[in-house]
Amino acid sequence: MSDKIEQCILCQSKELELLKNFNAGDLVRCKSCFMVFSSLIPSQSTLATHYGAYRMFDQISDITIKRYNQLLDQFEKYRQTNRIIDVGCGQGFFLEQAKKRGWEVYGTEFAPQYIKVCSDKGIRMNEGVLTLVNYPPESFDIVTSFEVIEHLSYPLQELKNFNSLLRPGGLLYITTPNFNSLSRRIQGDHWTVISYPDHLSYFTPGTINKALSTAGFRKKKILTTGISIARTQQALFKNENPPNEAKEKIEKPVDSVWQERIEGNFLLKVLKGMINRFLTLSHSGDGIKAMYTKK
Ligand SMILES: [Zn+2]
Repeated sequence: MSDKIEQCILCQSKELELLKNFNAGDLVRCKSCFMVFSSLIPSQSTLATHYGAYRMFDQISDITIKRYNQLLDQFEKYRQTNRIIDVGCGQGFFLEQAKKRGWEVYGTEFAPQYIKVCSDKGIRMNEGVLTLVNYPPESFDIVTSFEVIEHLSYPLQELKNFNSLLRPGGLLYITTPNFNSLSRRIQGDHWTVISYPDHLSYFTPGTINKALSTAGFRKKKILTTGISIARTQQALFKNENPPNEAKEKIEKPVDSVWQERIEGNFLLKVLKGMINRFLTLSHSGDGIKAMYTKK
């Protein structure tokens, strides 16, 4: 049995329109603030089965490690309590890098198979939903959450929780897919990001900004970047494969092969730079990256 959400998860408006071409999870858009979300709430047992099936990756690429460290460079000036928490930390690849740089690292995860992996890496783990009583209030310099809030039926509450964890002036860094992306426009309802019960909340730069302001944050920067070559290629050549998370996980290495090829080729790198600049200016990249501070 699934429950139904009758009002906007961001602004509480009851004026919702059903997005006809996006049937998975009965996607609706708020007529007032344009938030897009699944109006169905999956049951706990559906979610448990779903997340128990997540696969494991043994390693990440050198490029990803480099990107994580570029991000950590930006976090340095916020270091006061020396504590960082990654909500939905997966196998802890990001926190592993943070730990190497002397941060005290905390993580949360649903998937039981990830908890052990992370604990073995020296990450202080809590299983399941983020529970504020597990931490002293306002005790973190940094909260990160990569590709997590789209999995929640009520992301605004989670953003408020992030705010409670941060010390005044602390930094939040989150990433989430961009519903206004060029990929989504090209791929329509085949956009592989749309997948129920995996993804429940679909943000745009506008709606994430509204959500973060409501949750007590001030904007530092927000950008959209990247386009998945594998996914776009697939959509253009109309490969009919079921959009699900397992498939998405398999695709990732294809993109990292491209990533390596591009890094090693000057012209491809320039071209990629131009495409990214266009995507950034038009706010139509695949992913939203938002950096906000606590008011
Ligand atoms: Zn709304």
